[in-house]
Amino acid sequence: MSQLKYCQGPKCHTYDTKDRKRGPKDNKRNETRRRSSFYYLNGNVCSMQCQADWFDVYGSRALDHFGRITQPRVMTKDNAWRVRRNYNWDNRSQDTFYAYNYLTEERRPLTQQQYDNANTITEDGKLAI
Ligand SMILES: [Zn+2]
Repeated sequence: MSQLKYCQGPKCHTYDTKDRKRGPKDNKRNETRRRSSFYYLNGNVCSMQCQADWFDVYGSRALDHFGRITQPRVMTKDNAWRVRRNYNWDNRSQDTFYAYNYLTEERRPLTQQQYDNANTITEDGKLAI
């Protein structure tokens, strides 16, 4: 059985829904939602509202903690690579693969293994092979 976790929305318990209600009649309370998985904020909150609440409270602090962008980030021909696939709908085993450069429009053939490998293109768009 998967582990239950709490929604990380700081105001989750303030939304009055049936599934948040706990306790006996004379001591009713609303609690933070608890589930095995969530869809929002990378699986950490139960709803778009809780995601917005989280960002309102913690967003600026997170940017300060992890570092703000203080000068423009730049895409050049060196970091403009993405992997692409040419589908052959008549015979899928004949699909072809290539690295594509958004700025120069250059194409370099790839094997399917290179296409499937997340490290073929670095996180910042450089061709690593
Ligand atoms: Zn929530």
